[in-house]
Amino acid sequence: MIKRIGVIGAGQMGTGIAHVCALSGLDVRLMDISEDRLDAAMQAMDQNMERQVRRGLFEEVEKHEALLRVRTSTSMADMSDRQMVVEAATEDEAVKKTVFQALIPHLNSEAIIATNTSSIPITRLAAATDRPGRFIGMHFMNPVPMMQLVEVIRGIATEDETVGAVRDLTKALGKQAVSSEDFPAFIVNRILLPMINEAVYTLYEGVGSVEAIDTAMKLGANHPMGPLELADFIGLDTCLSVMQVLYEGLADSKYRPCPLLVKYVEAGWLGRKTGRGFYDYSGPEPIPTR
Ligand code: NAD
Repeated sequence: MIKRIGVIGAGQMGTGIAHVCALSGLDVRLMDISEDRLDAAMQAMDQNMERQVRRGLFEEVEKHEALLRVRTSTSMADMSDRQMVVEAATEDEAVKKTVFQALIPHLNSEAIIATNTSSIPITRLAAATDRPGRFIGMHFMNPVPMMQLVEVIRGIATEDETVGAVRDLTKALGKQAVSSEDFPAFIVNRILLPMINEAVYTLYEGVGSVEAIDTAMKLGANHPMGPLELADFIGLDTCLSVMQVLYEGLADSKYRPCPLLVKYVEAGWLGRKTGRGFYDYSGPEPIPTR
């Protein structure tokens, strides 16, 4: 059983992964090249766990113990005793390969390397390491502490033992694993993003307004969030990049990104994070922009 885990990249996802690992009793090393990111991650974990305490999910003392199980570092040397490392650095193939090159000389040869990539082929990343058999995709959903699912993606060389260890870890984190083959965007994004892209086409072609489209899908398909609201939440740049991965990776015109989505990204209207996307977030309530 995995007890000592490393997390590389203390951004949105790495922070969430460290959070759930620490709460499940694992000893966690969180690594980033930026001290500021590490400080922000510890602060975010503290606040997010505090919110969970207020909701009655666990006691203050458990939060305190969990936070003590996380140590931060800017050095790969601190990964030497880890049984597994989850890589959650920036979504850029060159960055991830640099991370693996820096990590491997310090890492025990038995340790598993998992990547949280959303779009880079697992097999290609595995080939850039010394251990394709002990390399795997472990795709957490955002926000990690709230979302139940982990997609487990084996590369062509991933060994059964590695898959078993990662499925067991997923269970120990209180989450549910689904297996996905190593094809562009895996399962959730392969289905979700074309739906969002189609919602943008529906807006682009004037079939419905922002409000009509989101209301239709909430009340007509029982979705908790409308597709355009969800696109703003994910980030329109991220939505576009997943569509590009599908379009190029599967070479099928059915995945072509909607020109209106491209236009919004060009305008810097990326959704919630920039204050404007399909909704305007500058006031107390989001206002549809079309
Ligand atoms: P982010 O930009 O919030 O964080 C990335 C972190 O990586 C930053 O803190 C950065 O300083 C760090 N980093 C960059 N180079 C590094 C290096 N050489 N060594 C160590 N740290 C380094 O990104 P994120 O949204 O947390 O995404 C991380 C990964 O998770 C990506 O692969 C992404 O595709 C994947 N993912 C993201 C989401 C999401 O919704 N954001 C969901 C699932 C998976």
